[in-house]
Amino acid sequence: MYLPHLVFEDRAFGALVLPNCRLEALWTGARWIEGPAWFPAGRYLLFSDIPEDRMMRYDDTDGSVSVFRSPSQHSNGNTRDPQGRLVSCHHLGRCVTRTEFDGTVRVIADRFQGRRLNSPNDVVVSSDGAVWFTDPTYGIDMDYEGQRAESEIGASHVYRIDPDSGDVAAVATDFVKPNGLAFSPDESLLYIADTGASHVEGGPRHIRRFRVRGDRLQGGEVFAECSNGFFDGFRCDRLGNLWCSSAEGVHCLNPEGALIGRIMVPEVVANVCFGGPKMNRLFIAGSTTLYATFLNVSGLNVSG
Ligand code: MG
Repeated sequence: MYLPHLVFEDRAFGALVLPNCRLEALWTGARWIEGPAWFPAGRYLLFSDIPEDRMMRYDDTDGSVSVFRSPSQHSNGNTRDPQGRLVSCHHLGRCVTRTEFDGTVRVIADRFQGRRLNSPNDVVVSSDGAVWFTDPTYGIDMDYEGQRAESEIGASHVYRIDPDSGDVAAVATDFVKPNGLAFSPDESLLYIADTGASHVEGGPRHIRRFRVRGDRLQGGEVFAECSNGFFDGFRCDRLGNLWCSSAEGVHCLNPEGALIGRIMVPEVVANVCFGGPKMNRLFIAGSTTLYATFLNVSGLNVSG
């Protein structure tokens, strides 16, 4: 028998989950959390508590949670680059940073064509070192998550930072509010969420799928619609399934975009991340609480 937090939409979901593995609440006390990123060398998970202007660290060796960085420039999405360095999006600083090995926090993008970015939201790094990030306006729409300001760009794009030149190029300019993003296992596809329904009546609440052609994207068809809330952030497992945030928990989509199962969570989920020594534990950013469960499939050991 499967525990009741696992909801099946397709029998295939059974191969990905563990029937007797419960949903654990690891820590609570946040305003709302985002941006989980796993660091295998140190066996810890970093995540953002956006309104509290801090980053937290879950230590997998003893289960403790402590403040990693405060203030954090209202950090949101975080990831790990191929060298293992922390890459973060910041609402207040309106920038993307990389934390170097000596601890220096270096801004790697804060403008596009001379105008300030809106408020970078989520980020992934491809194996060639290119940094791909989304730039909706949530952090400049309100003081709660950043600081209210006018958009200098006047639109919400997806950008790529070139690993050699450091140049920032717009790679998708037809989004309402681009949000989470993740590569397929072989990096031939880039999935990008649009949460534009937060601002536009009847607007997008879906994930689009692009084909990666070097430094450019092609295609961009709608891959899946969210049936409850938003696909804010998500991650791909090594079989190509997407584990996506939603208002009711985590939705698991197969590589064709079909909803095959759900992990019900007591709070709204903003993002997820694979981690643990075997990369088979799904960490879940659930509003005020960090949750986790073990799965029968592991995540990609890149760009956690
Ligand atoms: Mg997001």
